Amino acid sequence: MDFDMGLSACSAVKDRHILENSMLEDDPNENSAISQEQKNLPRWGPHHKGAQELAQLYSKGKRSQETVCIYTCIILMLANFCFILRHFQIERWTTVVFAALCGIITADFASGFVHWGADSWCSVDLPVIGKNFLRPFREHHIDPTSITRHDFIETNGDNFMLTIPCLGRMFWDFLTKSNEEVQNNFSWTCYLFLLAIFVSMTNQIHKWSHTYFGLPRWVVWLQDHHIILPRLHHRIHHVAPHETYFCITTGWLNWPLEKIQFWPFLEWVITYLTGYKPRTDDFKWAQKRA
Ligand SMILES: [Zn+2]
Ligand SMILES: [Zn+2]
Repeated sequence: MDFDMGLSACSAVKDRHILENSMLEDDPNENSAISQEQKNLPRWGPHHKGAQELAQLYSKGKRSQETVCIYTCIILMLANFCFILRHFQIERWTTVVFAALCGIITADFASGFVHWGADSWCSVDLPVIGKNFLRPFREHHIDPTSITRHDFIETNGDNFMLTIPCLGRMFWDFLTKSNEEVQNNFSWTCYLFLLAIFVSMTNQIHKWSHTYFGLPRWVVWLQDHHIILPRLHHRIHHVAPHETYFCITTGWLNWPLEKIQFWPFLEWVITYLTGYKPRTDDFKWAQKRA
């Protein structure tokens, strides 16, 4: 009994810590700034000078790249899905479900790994990659709700781009390989297809985890049952200095990776080998408050 009470008191303290130290995302009125003083020197939100500077770096060229990637990826997804349906054999459904589940778990790990890498290392000043691919990660920490104001293309362009090589290769294999070869590789194909779908959907799921108004009921149901990233769960990542809970697809791996101290261990190895400290660029942008 005492033990249970201790546990619930402990989780209440933890929840309060998360809520007090991350941005008030359920506030629709321009986020957390209430007084003029807070607006002049905000820790988070669209009034943050660093966030405004980062938002202005979103270029027309970048927008074009995202648009091309979204259309290419959707065409490849639809084409591959038709091929998968054509080759699907009902008696193999358990293998297909297992392969699909492994694909989802891999996508969650990949989301954590890429997110951790982009948050923790390198700088927005890096040629090409910095402005185009690291900028959104920096912006997201100092203005977390900016993602809710991004449209479908800006939200999903980069994730869709990542899956094009895999989906393109799959499409080519369906076109050129014999029926027997396709059947031999069918479980692997299903694994890769679900991996690609969930990698593509990751930032949309992430956007939903920051959206406190007007979400479709089925999305809230999926969040509440932790089938996709829940809102309070993701808020643990948004407690400065943003050093844990990097997985943003389903979030299933966050707890076990935290338990084994996976990210601190990787950071320790990198700092030991290179001398670089994690999150120095992220910290620099967080300081540009006014
Ligand atoms: Zn982050
Ligand atoms: Zn986030």
